[in-house]
This record gives sequence, structure tokens and C-alpha cells, in this order.
Amino acid sequence: MMFNNITLIIGAGLSGSVIARLLAERGEKVTVIEQKNHIAGNIYDYIDENGICIHKYGSHIFHTNNEIVWRFLNKFADFNTYMHKVVAIIDGIETTIPFNLNTIHDVFPKSLADRLEQKLLDKFEYNSKVPILEFQKQDDKDLKFLAQYIYEKVFLNYTTKQWGQSPENIDGYVTARVPVYISKDNRYFQDKYQGIPQKGYTKMIENMLKHPNIELKLNTKYSSEEFSGYKRIFCTGSIDEFFNYKYGELPYRSVEFRFETFNREFYQSNAVVNYPCNYDFTRIHEYKYYLNDKSNKTVIAKEYPSAFVKGINERYYPIVNEQNNELYKKYKNEVPKNVHFLGRLGDYRYYDMDKAAERAINLFEEIINAKS
Ligand code: UDP
Repeated sequence: MMFNNITLIIGAGLSGSVIARLLAERGEKVTVIEQKNHIAGNIYDYIDENGICIHKYGSHIFHTNNEIVWRFLNKFADFNTYMHKVVAIIDGIETTIPFNLNTIHDVFPKSLADRLEQKLLDKFEYNSKVPILEFQKQDDKDLKFLAQYIYEKVFLNYTTKQWGQSPENIDGYVTARVPVYISKDNRYFQDKYQGIPQKGYTKMIENMLKHPNIELKLNTKYSSEEFSGYKRIFCTGSIDEFFNYKYGELPYRSVEFRFETFNREFYQSNAVVNYPCNYDFTRIHEYKYYLNDKSNKTVIAKEYPSAFVKGINERYYPIVNEQNNELYKKYKNEVPKNVHFLGRLGDYRYYDMDKAAERAINLFEEIINAKS
């Protein structure tokens, strides 16, 4: 059967849903297939029996400086004004991550903290962000000590747990996501727009897909035999899977969330508490903070990283390095003209939500402009 006026979209996550909506609004017919039994991909959330909104695949906090992305998403959801903070337990002390001027005062005696703060302010611009691998290049004795301290207490164990490798062996942009911050701003993100959809991410995606030109099929896996003859295909799945792994598998990291419910109002002081020094999990999420859910119970999840194993767990993070990029390119070179890859999996890039949406919007425009 031919569907040569229909576009096929593989995956009903954020990237697939954004491009589906943009095409539909332009009057094009779109079929979205999703192999899971739910929409929204890894930003899927649901309200549990306690009335708490749970982010099934880990905490998702939206943040962006991109007006276009922000305006687009606001058509499908009202966002609250939640601004994310992360605390970490370092040497048994609860303090702020990214490591900033307040952290210095939390973990060191006053005289040492004052001296370190002065030296940092002499050396760096206020509000500057310095990646840890860069920060380690200090010649001053005190700053050398501080750099080593932050490396060991914040990055070394957390990164080793998260990626199965020490910080030097993973791409510098990964640890640069959480820099040393010469500031007293305790927020995790400094973007102009931040927040969580008040009715949840799933509802936002549902609204996006609700359009007469969009047909959605859940529990539907792509196969080239079954889905041929479409005008074009946008694939948000992993490129190795699309090609039946003919050049081998692209590696990913996965994470397991172990959920627990407690008969008390709160479990911890903050939505996310990182454990960079202790335990096998990296962090604990407590979900009721995001939408200020009222319940006399609370639900938490401990996050345990692991390797991704096909058929066993989910893909969460591409492991971006030279070797894996080469493998990705090898597949990419064989992509037919009417097939386009996008999203964290499709592009094999560590996108935040806003970057995934931005990429979908840009790709849509590229394709529409190429046509006219
Ligand atoms: N990281 C770390 N210690 C922390 C927080 C982050 O070493 O307390 C490193 C770790 O390598 C992690 C990376 O910084 O993978 C990016 O962290 P982010 O919180 O941005 O990760 P995400 O929320 O995307 O999992």
C-alpha cells in the first residue's frame, strides 16, 4: 500500500511530537507510530494513587533561552515558575550543586572559605562558569587544593557511577554541564525561561498530538517492510536499530529508578539530592516538589546508572566520543534522501528538552524551505 502523501514519524516523544504538530499545522497528513504503550517518550509523567506527578524516566525540568521554543511549547501547556536547585551531600554536609561561593562557605571553616572566595573573585569574573577540567589548571596553592577537592568530592565518584568511566575519559562537555560557578546563585540553570507544565509533560504532548491531521498508533514498532511508501520518514529512534544493527550497536547509558513511597509529608529537603561521594545511586528524586502536590505521602526514586542492554532496559544517554561518532556517521551515510533523524537517539546527541524541540523546529523549516 502506498502512503505517498503521508509523513511517517517514528516515536511520539518530544522531538517526534513537535515535528508532527508543525507538519500537521501546515496541512500535511502525519502518522506517528510509537512502540511503547504511551506517548511522551522519556518525558512521560503520570499522576499516581497519592496524587503525585511522577516523572517515570527521571526528573525533567524545562529551561531555555530560546523564545521560539518557549512560545511554541506554551501553546500546549501552562508552565509554573519552578526554578530547579540541586543539593548534594558532601562529607555529610548538605550543600549546593553546582559548586559555588555558597558551597565554599558550607563545607570549609570560615577563614579558609573567606580566603578561597577572595582568590576566586580576584581570578575569575563574578558569575562566570568554569568547567571542572579547566578549573583544575590552577597554580595557586589554595586554588589547587580547592580544584582537587571539588574534583574528588563532586565529580570523580558521581561521574564514575554515571558513565562507568572517570571524568577525563568522557567528553568534556558532559562535566561542563555542571561547572564550578563563581556566584551566589544557587539555581541549577540560569535560563530566562524555566518551569514545569502544570498539568504534566504527558498532557503537553497529548495536546500537541491532538490535531485532525495527526494519526497516532501506540504499541507499534517500525519495520521497513510494514511501513513503506511514505512521502518521508522522521525517525526519533536509534539509528542502529533502524538499520537492524548491521554495523553493530551504538552504546548508551541507562538508568534504573527504584521507587519508594513513604507515609510522611517529605523525605528530603529538595526535589533532587545528589550523592557524589556515597552509595551506588547517583541521586534521589522526590517528585511532589515539582508541582507542589499536596499529599500526606511522598514518593521518591533512587537513580542507579548502568549500561544500556538491548531488550532489558531503556536508552537514556548517548555516550558521545570519537569512536561512537564514527559509527553513527557510518549509519548516517546510508540514510535515504526522504528519511531524517532527530532527537536524542536519532541524532545521538545529549540534548536537553529545549534543544530537542529546537532541533525539531529547525529541521521542519529546513525541509519545508528545501521543498518550496
Ligand atoms: N556531575 C557530577 N556530579 C554531580 C552532578 C553532575 O559529576 O553532582 C557530572 C556527571 O558526569 C554528569 C554530568 O555532570 O553526567 C552532567 O550532569 P547533569 O546533572 O547535567 O546530568 P542529567 O541531569 O542530564 O543526568
